[in-house]
Amino acid sequence: MSRRVLILLGPPGAGKGTQASRLCAELGLPHVSTGDLFREHRAKGTELGRRAQEYMDSGRLVPDDLVLDMLFDRVAKPDCARGFLLDGFPRTLPQAEALEKRLGGGTAVRVLDLRVADKALVDRLTGRRTCRQCSHIHHVRTSPPKAAGRCDRCGGELYTRTDDEAATVEKRLAVYRDQTQPLQGYYQKKGLLQEVDGDRNPDEVFRSLRQAAAGMEAA
Ligand code: AMP
Repeated sequence: MSRRVLILLGPPGAGKGTQASRLCAELGLPHVSTGDLFREHRAKGTELGRRAQEYMDSGRLVPDDLVLDMLFDRVAKPDCARGFLLDGFPRTLPQAEALEKRLGGGTAVRVLDLRVADKALVDRLTGRRTCRQCSHIHHVRTSPPKAAGRCDRCGGELYTRTDDEAATVEKRLAVYRDQTQPLQGYYQKKGLLQEVDGDRNPDEVFRSLRQAAAGMEAA
């Protein structure tokens, strides 16, 4: 079987992280999230983590060269040999072009584009609580944890990411529109893009994503 790469596209707050975890469990693919990789670097206090911090906390994108080195190191690991799911990457056209070059032929690529109306995104992001330990996501209203402040999955501490605070959320959405949304046209032209309505309950969204990903095997 050739390598397959699934790309989850969509604005911050569209549910990429939550849906990516479920899809990866279902499809047996490793979940590669550049946001999670940067947060791991920050938690470990690496040089890369320190350089990424100022961009992340202000809602801007980390420069492409830093992202690409980190990402390519990750997908060179043996668990990615048969494929992987990308969550939060690519976010700029140069990143998409670099990925394409790196993958070369022999890789089946499918881009699933989660569409969510702007007004819903702000509510989702500012209500989000992330587990410090396993990155699992809760929401204060739609998926509150059973024990206050503790992750249902692993018992880790839940926190509000600095970049999920209201002022930064607006900035992240503007950055998305300027720098990431052009990727829709890029992948559309290549015939790789499949839109999925992300404005429904998470189970329905998951079913659509699973269907779209399964279509890929036949492609
Ligand atoms: P996320 O968890 O995907 O929302 O990412 C959190 C932050 O990490 C973003 O707001 C960016 O500052 C940075 N980041 C994550 N992925 C990328 C990427 N592919 N390109 C540039 N910056 C990124």
